[in-house]
Amino acid sequence: MLDADFFHRWMTATAASVDREAEHLTALDSPIGDADHGSNLQRGFTAVATALEKEAPETPGAVLVLAGRTLISTVGGASGPLYGTLLRRTGKALGDAAEVSAEQLTEALRAGVE
Ligand SMILES: [Mg+2]
Repeated sequence: MLDADFFHRWMTATAASVDREAEHLTALDSPIGDADHGSNLQRGFTAVATALEKEAPETPGAVLVLAGRTLISTVGGASGPLYGTLLRRTGKALGDAAEVSAEQLTEALRAGVE
């Protein structure tokens, strides 16, 4: 079963990956975009990590809802609303459970994607 700590670590690991790949993401965004995708996501996931440390949500759903809300309010362009809404709706679909199964997460992610 997956608990709030697992989801917290998932978001922290994502923030570290975005940090590592920020320049690459921005380079990919340069030819057709405005070369800010890496820095946008970096700002967003840094804010997510900070918010999770500060608020310490106690359920998997609450971790994802907070992460999503933070991305929506800190990332510009389309990626903030897209990734933020995905995480927020996935979190809402998980409800108030203290632990969720991999199957429940799969279903919740499907709801988030839709
Ligand atoms: Mg952009």
